[in-house]
Parts: sequence; C-alpha cells; structure tokens
Amino acid sequence: MKKIIRDLNRVFIGSEVPSDYQNPLSNYKVHSVVKPINENEIIEVIKYANEHNLVVVTRGSNTGVAGSQTPFIGNEIIIDLSLMNKVIELDRETMTLTVEPGIHLETVQKYASEHGLMYAPDPASKDSTIGGNVSTNAGGMRAVKYGTTRNSIRGLEVILMDGSKLVLGSKTIKDSSGYDLKDLFIGSEGTLGIITKVMLKVIPKPQYNITTLLAFEDESIATETVIKILSKGYIPTALEFFDKESIHYSEKLLNKPFISNKGTAYLLLTVDGNNQDYVNQEISQIHEIANQAVDKLVLKEQEAVETWVMRDSILLGLYATTKFEMLDEVVPINQVAELIKYTKALGNKHNLKVLNFGHSGDGNVHTIMIRDNYSDEAWPLVRKAFLDDLYTEIYRLGGLISAEHGIGIYKQEHFLIHTPKANVEAMRAIKKALDPKNLLNPGKIF
Ligand SMILES: Cc1cc2nc3c(=O)[nH]c(=O)nc-3n(C[C@H](O)[C@H](O)[C@H](O)COP(=O)(O)OP(=O)(O)OC[C@H]3O[C@@H](n4cnc5c(N)ncnc54)[C@H](O)[C@@H]3O)c2cc1C
Repeated sequence: MKKIIRDLNRVFIGSEVPSDYQNPLSNYKVHSVVKPINENEIIEVIKYANEHNLVVVTRGSNTGVAGSQTPFIGNEIIIDLSLMNKVIELDRETMTLTVEPGIHLETVQKYASEHGLMYAPDPASKDSTIGGNVSTNAGGMRAVKYGTTRNSIRGLEVILMDGSKLVLGSKTIKDSSGYDLKDLFIGSEGTLGIITKVMLKVIPKPQYNITTLLAFEDESIATETVIKILSKGYIPTALEFFDKESIHYSEKLLNKPFISNKGTAYLLLTVDGNNQDYVNQEISQIHEIANQAVDKLVLKEQEAVETWVMRDSILLGLYATTKFEMLDEVVPINQVAELIKYTKALGNKHNLKVLNFGHSGDGNVHTIMIRDNYSDEAWPLVRKAFLDDLYTEIYRLGGLISAEHGIGIYKQEHFLIHTPKANVEAMRAIKKALDPKNLLNPGKIF
C-alpha cells in the first residue's frame, strides 16, 4: 500500500490509523486508511484489496446517519476521498458542473452561486461531500421543488472492485441508451463501486425569493395546509414542518428565541422565481390558503437566513443535548398528518419521548426517538418495540423506510422485513455481479 500511495501523510496502516477512523462501538480495528488524490491511486488500491481479499469502505465526510460508512467487521481498508475535492469544469452552455467526489456540498453551492447558478439539492449537512450525497441520494430542504440529489446528476465515473472503470451518463439531458446504470449507483451506499467523478446539473439562480413562517395550534392543521398549498399548484422551494419542542433544541444551541412565540407547529417555506411580483403574489395566496394559521410572518432577508439556520440546527441541538435516534421515513404527502399523530400515540404506548420535523412538502418526516435515561440494556428492547410498530404502520400508509439517509446498518432489520423478497434478491444479484467477492462495504443495506 505504501508503494501505491507514496506520500506517507496519506496512508496509515495498523497502529498508525488515526482513532477517528475506528468504530467507537467495536473493538475491531481497521486495516488501513488511504487518502488518494487521483483515480489511478484508487484503482491500484482497489486491485490490491481485491487480490488480498480485503474489505473496502469508502468515506466522504463521515456525516452519514445510517451507519453505511462505518467499518464494523474489522480489517477494512478505508478509502477517504476528502482530498479529491476540486471543481474540474463548469460548462455554462450545458449547465454542467463536473467535480471530484470529495468536494463539500457547501463549496459546490458557493461556486455555483458565484457564477450566477444554483446547485439545487440542499441537505443540512453542508460539510458532506458530493460523493457521499450521491451514494445516499441525499435530499434536504429543496427536494419538494427540485428533487433529491438523483435529479441533479448528469453523469458519474465509477471504479468497480476489479479495478475497471464505468463512465455513466453524459452532459445530455435525455438518455435512453440501455440500462440506467448511473441511477443504480445513486443511493447504493458505497456497496457497488467508488465514485471518482460527478457531473452535476446546475440551473440559473432564481433572482428573488421570499420566506414566510406560518404558525399553527395543531400539527394536523399545519400538515393539512401543506396539502392545500401543493394541490393549488404552488411548489415552494422548501417547505419544512417542525414542532415547538424540536425548535426548542435550536433555541438552546443558538441561545436565542425563535421568531414566533405563537402556535405549537410551524411551516417554514420559501418561494423563489425570477419575477418579484409573481413571488409576492404567490406568498399572498399561500397566506390566504393558510387561513387557520395563528401567525403569518413574511421574513426580511436577514430574518429568513437566521430562521433557516435555526431550522437547520435542530439536529445539531439534539446532538449537543441528548441521546436520540433519528428516523427518515417517507409517506405519501396526504398521510403525513396521520403518521405524525401515530408517532405520538406510539410514544405514549412505549413510554418514549418523540419529536417530529421534516420535509413535509415531500412527505419525509424525521421522527426523533429521545433515548433519555434508558439504560444500555433497556434501550434496544424499547427501540425495537417502537420501530416494529412504526414501520408496520408506515408501510400500511404506503410509505417507505428511508427517504434520504439510506439503510446502512441501523435500518437493515426493518428494511428486510418490509421489502418484498424478490426486490432484495434482485439487489443481491446486482451486488454479486459487480462485486463477486463481496468486498465493497459488505453487510450494509441487506
Ligand atoms: C447535522 C446533519 C444534518 C444532515 N442533514 C441531512 C439532510 O438534510 N438531508 C440528507 O439527505 N442527509 C442529511 N444528513 C446525512 C448525511 O449528511 C448525508 O447522508 C450525506 O450525503 C453523507 O455524505 P458524506 O460525505 O458525509 O458521506 P459519508 O458519511 O462519509 O458516507 C456515506 C455513504 O456514502 C458512501 N460514499 C461516500 N463517498 C463515496 C464515493 N465517492 N463513492 C462511493 N461511495 C461513497 C460511503 O461508503 C457511505 O456508504 C445530515 C447529517 C448530519 C450529521
């Protein structure tokens, strides 16, 4: 390995491996960590791993929340792509931005913005990498209007476990040229190949946007308002739901009060466009639809930025103050109210504190199970009982287990219970075809 990565600051073997690459919950140690700076180094490392039957786990920024980037069987090679972080090319005419996989989402968004463009996907973890976003099909705030990461990918280059390279997609808008292998790698959680280059679709940056906060006394009214807004044909750039308790964690973290002191359930939404009158009109019409709101605030520019930061900080506030597990379920948008009501009832049944926030415009709810004082022995039982009930209900409502975080390790048990056997067998067959020795991130998803 040291013959492949000749710079000793980029290869760590055995006891040299920095502790933040080890799994804190396991005694197994990883074999090595490499930080390649180009595709050739990746190919050589992969060939070495293949020859020596070593498991490979690819890592971006390690912000994944499903455990899919976590080494957990011991003796893995971790390929950390954080040094492959450059913009390769901006093609303004086709509006395609080609980047290396380790570039941070925030860098891409800033680069696009500086060129009058927008990269639409907007997960809250701005320090995550584009390679990680592709591999988890990350969603975020703007999925309601612009889709998830998948909808902004024009092409990928991928190295397979035998060292061969796939070139998938192109700068074209359409593609009906055989199986869509590009889509297969999006959301594959590093189990099928290593993404070494990504062609992103960028769009002209909308010139105007307005953010409004709607406060409601009741969660169901808030989520029903979402359906009314969408069914009237208004598609906000972002349409987020959160409850008073969730935003309380941001208030504590940021040490400042939320902008509204009315209501208990909130919708925060931004409308964008290139015609200011039209954007203003859309906000007025949304206010008319939200006739049961107890507070309707149109936010000034700085207030909007701060309120979005507050929304983005719910998760960080939770990390800072409590032990919890975040879920990532998605239901058809007309079932969100039902789902939220059910999570509360289930919390009471299992004696568990439950919060909800999420991307209500696309049906993706983040239910938070607050662990509180449950001991290490008691927690797995409470957790399992709650999840057994919850996932059964989610599938009954026509939903799915993961909207944007992936299955990883943490959701595997319930994914396998609720996914049709034939689907899982098809996934296993694909995995076997592309990685016959099962060396690439094994044990994740299924
Ligand atoms: C505070 C916080 C907020 C978050 N908000 C959101 C949100 O709003 N929306 C959302 O969808 N997610 C969110 N996440 C989850 C997480 O940020 C995303 O899953 C993100 O896409 C992971 O990117 P990463 O670079 O950290 O990847 P990692 O965590 O390092 O890896 C994630 C997966 O991708 C694989 N992978 C990474 N790079 C490559 C590559 N080049 N080739 C092949 N496989 C690769 C890994 O093997 C692993 O399976 C949040 C996380 C945190 C901590």
